[in-house]
Amino acid sequence: MSKASFPLHTLQEGEHPAETQGDQRTLAALKERYAFRITDHLKNMIEGLPESDPIARQYLPQLAELDTLPEERADPIGDFAHTPVKGIVHRHKDRVLFKPANICAVYCRFCFRREMVGPGADILSMQERQEALAYIAAHPEIREVILTGGDPLVLSVRQLDEILSALDAISHLDMIRIHTRLPLADPGKITAALCSILGKLQKPLYLSLHVNHTRELTPEVRQAIAALDKAGCILLSQSVLLKGVNDSAETLEALFRTLITLKVKPYYLHHPDLAPGTNHFRLSLSEGQALFKKLQGRVSGICLPTYMLDIPGGYGKVPVTADHIKPLKDGTYIVTDNEGREHAYPESAQTGNTA
Ligand SMILES: *Cc1c(COP(=O)(O)O)cnc(C)c1O
Ligand code: SF4
Repeated sequence: MSKASFPLHTLQEGEHPAETQGDQRTLAALKERYAFRITDHLKNMIEGLPESDPIARQYLPQLAELDTLPEERADPIGDFAHTPVKGIVHRHKDRVLFKPANICAVYCRFCFRREMVGPGADILSMQERQEALAYIAAHPEIREVILTGGDPLVLSVRQLDEILSALDAISHLDMIRIHTRLPLADPGKITAALCSILGKLQKPLYLSLHVNHTRELTPEVRQAIAALDKAGCILLSQSVLLKGVNDSAETLEALFRTLITLKVKPYYLHHPDLAPGTNHFRLSLSEGQALFKKLQGRVSGICLPTYMLDIPGGYGKVPVTADHIKPLKDGTYIVTDNEGREHAYPESAQTGNTA
């Protein structure tokens, strides 16, 4: 299909560009299965089909999502196993995830929590937020709270202010962290009002931007990033290594080099999690390691994130290094977690499947 026949300008929330082709029943199944939402900002940046355009590939539904593998899971990183109260994931003693909203401004096709986020998924009620905050206040071993989701910045400024002020007042917390895609997805939402509540906290506020390709760093996005920096946020990035989006050393090098010019320290490069219908995005761990090694030879330590794998089942994240990842003869791996326990890890399909 040529670009001209791709009616992007008419693409509405809930509509699928692939509807111009092929089997309507398959497309209906896809539509029902996973949430779809894109912002005007990102929609206007799309220049081609998911096969060739890194923006389209991250957000537009692809038929390959209907292929699920036995090892893929609804809860790939084991959030449920470590949830003491609604909205909290307490896996590591010293830090918790706090998920106030399971909705996002956009839905990434490779999302690791794709079975938990989506329109109609919940925002914590006032009472549930209070209970989550009470849990954090009652556990002095917690030193860091990571607001994630979903995207915590889709909350209203007032709700966010309430949460951040409450966290700022908990004396045993060293710092607060926010994981967000919003500055990239909808930079106009990084308003002066938002920056002012982020900037008034006493504790250090680390803000980790989810960004996967230099093309996402438009002038508007750069302005939003500059505003967050000016507000006093310490800026980090996290990226997901995605086949067909950023799976070359050149693409990643360009991304990380651009980020450091924007005062953003590349923090993690995530190996994609085993979320359902995402195999077309995954390289094998060996391929990822080879790519990362190339990158390591090219850029400074400041420019280089850590390449991480979240072990399926809730055993935590480990760097994708020889210490933790042992390839076996049959193409699968043994992954050793931080407590020395060993876990089997499957190999990604090597053929077909690219959307
Ligand atoms: C990723 C994650 C964290 C944060 O890990 P860092 O290595 O500190 O970035 C904390 N808790 C859970 C459950 C996580 O999945
Ligand atoms: S912004 Fe994050 S939580 Fe939301 S869909 Fe994308 S990867 Fe998932």
